[in-house]
Amino acid sequence: MKKCIYLIFALLIFSACKNESKKPSEAIQNETEKVEFSIIIHGGAGSIRRDNMSEEREAEYRQKLEEAIRVGYTILKEGGTSLDAVQNTINILEDSPLFNAGKGAVFTHEGFNEHDASIMDGKTLNAGASAGTKTIKNPINLARAVMDNSPHVFLSRGGAETFAKEQGLEIVEPNYFSTTKKLKSLERVKASEKNKVASFYDADLQDSKFGTVGCAALDKHGNLAAGTSTGGMTNKRWGRIGDSPIIGAGTYANNNTCAVSSTGWGEFFIRGMVAYDISALMEYKGLSLKEAAKEVIQNKLPNIGDQGATGGIVAIDKDGNMVMEFNTQGMFRAIMNAKGELYIGMFKD
Ligand code: ASP
Repeated sequence: MKKCIYLIFALLIFSACKNESKKPSEAIQNETEKVEFSIIIHGGAGSIRRDNMSEEREAEYRQKLEEAIRVGYTILKEGGTSLDAVQNTINILEDSPLFNAGKGAVFTHEGFNEHDASIMDGKTLNAGASAGTKTIKNPINLARAVMDNSPHVFLSRGGAETFAKEQGLEIVEPNYFSTTKKLKSLERVKASEKNKVASFYDADLQDSKFGTVGCAALDKHGNLAAGTSTGGMTNKRWGRIGDSPIIGAGTYANNNTCAVSSTGWGEFFIRGMVAYDISALMEYKGLSLKEAAKEVIQNKLPNIGDQGATGGIVAIDKDGNMVMEFNTQGMFRAIMNAKGELYIGMFKD
């Protein structure tokens, strides 16, 4: 009996000690929650110059970029995931006719708006993408649903639309996406094609056709995510799909390295596997995010094929360092860090 009482006593002391030893790890958890979070976005790269933009137009872009990034910032500040921050930030840009994504997407040769999007989770390397959809209001939501609720990574066209309906995503009439500005761009491009016998690859023409949107974020839990959404390139034909929905080209995220969203001349971004290449340079060569992004955008991309390509990326690494690298005249972009400091940029200077 005495032995039994000693045993119960010893067990009580042991369990008290065990509970005590939990405290430091709770404290570590609290500390983890304090880890910096950050968010970075782009609204496309191209011939964005101070001398060809009115003050009113510039203010419109600034206001929309700020509205979008604040949505993601708030999610991150409240402890939400980088995936939610990326998706909800991109939704704001998709709903704005200013950008080439969702409403305001560019027109295909045949006069339609066809959307591509992708999203990637740096923690699990899960990813979702969709291409060539015509009725999904927010293509990034479809990409997220593909990632979360399907056994696949990449859906396209009719099948993707059917899946979106089954998922209860918002469906709109195809003409919801149409804007006069983008229709005029198609007419202009077609006319110059005729006059100059230009090809799809004509640099002067293509440079003014970008406007994809993208976002990369690091959350308080140390997880990275990236996403990209686009209407592609004006005058695209034959079901053309660009880099934006291609994991590794338009979007990539890996908690060991970085999260990247690209914008630019898709054919070259695919051939250069731009987003993954930046991550790979960090992983295998030990480059910093800044060095890797510079190498890919300024040195490798311009030397792919005869043409070389224009465009840029926004990226964030696992420590919260952020980079906005582009080789065009400008790129719509914004950054917000954990302190709530906001930077918005458009032009090269
Ligand atoms: N990268 C996109 C595409 O080629 C275009 C863009 O970024 O504006 O479809």
